[in-house]
Amino acid sequence: MHTHLLPERLPNFADKFGYGDFIHLVHHRPGFARMMKGDTFFREIASNCWSPEVRIGEYLHFKTPVQVVCTIPVMFSYWAKPADCLDLSMFLNDHLAGVVEDFPEHYIALGTIPMQDADLAIRELERLKGLGFPGVQIGSNVNQLNLGEPQFFPIFEACERLDLAVFVHPWEMMGEADMRKYWLPWLVGMPAETCRAACSLIFGGVMERLPRLRFCFAHAGGSFIPTIGRIQHGFNCRPDLVAVDNPVPPRDYLGRFWVDSATHDPQLLRYILEVVGDEKVCLGTDYPFPLGDLEIGSFIEDMNLSQATLERIFYKNTLAWLHGGG
Ligand SMILES: [Zn+2]
Repeated sequence: MHTHLLPERLPNFADKFGYGDFIHLVHHRPGFARMMKGDTFFREIASNCWSPEVRIGEYLHFKTPVQVVCTIPVMFSYWAKPADCLDLSMFLNDHLAGVVEDFPEHYIALGTIPMQDADLAIRELERLKGLGFPGVQIGSNVNQLNLGEPQFFPIFEACERLDLAVFVHPWEMMGEADMRKYWLPWLVGMPAETCRAACSLIFGGVMERLPRLRFCFAHAGGSFIPTIGRIQHGFNCRPDLVAVDNPVPPRDYLGRFWVDSATHDPQLLRYILEVVGDEKVCLGTDYPFPLGDLEIGSFIEDMNLSQATLERIFYKNTLAWLHGGG
């Protein structure tokens, strides 16, 4: 339920809009492209980042026929002018819709929306619903504003009303400027970002006020579940700081949202299954990126889980998250 896909060709949005470090692609050799952020090299990607056929082949090797695809978080562009971000989001969403239309047995898509403008975001949510999208992917913060801030509430309210699932993916990692070495924004920042998003949505009362809204958090919820003891203890010992907007203890939310399985660690996954239940963990890979689970859940098959639990993790839970109905 967690893979990333781009169009093979992107318009040069910086030229189109006349500003900004929008991502563009330079196809410098067959099967590979450089993602450029303005003039700066961001990352090299291969054809499995854009070719639906290549991806289907790589997935079949692991007996996995269906991928939930969404854009790469660097494309969110929440920093852009809202109307331009809407324009970019619609381009990416139309592309994803086309992939689903071409390969309906292999792809399910999550849209992207301009989170920095609630009205435009809701307008695109309604369009996505009409196009048949079951949900959206959003960042863990929006220009460093936390997801529990009141300005985002109407967006979540619209997701609940339209019955769209929400995938929260870490991006614009906190502290990035202070820890550029050792890939720390990815190794330290990303798990912290996801925990930040979950805490903000819980403490800010979003999950409480929208009980039918279905959230799923990337990378097994980041550091949220492993540090829930500390978070709950903080809620108990300093309610004056923590319980100011929502009196419900954070532990009560375990089992109310979904997470993916991308832990790279069977012991941690076993713990998470115990804490949130085997109905809330979905096979998620972060394919095709190197930090992803590129053997598509093989380590889960080696965990001696029951067949019923494996079936839940491998597809039933993702369908329940996307379509409701438990
Ligand atoms: Zn990802």
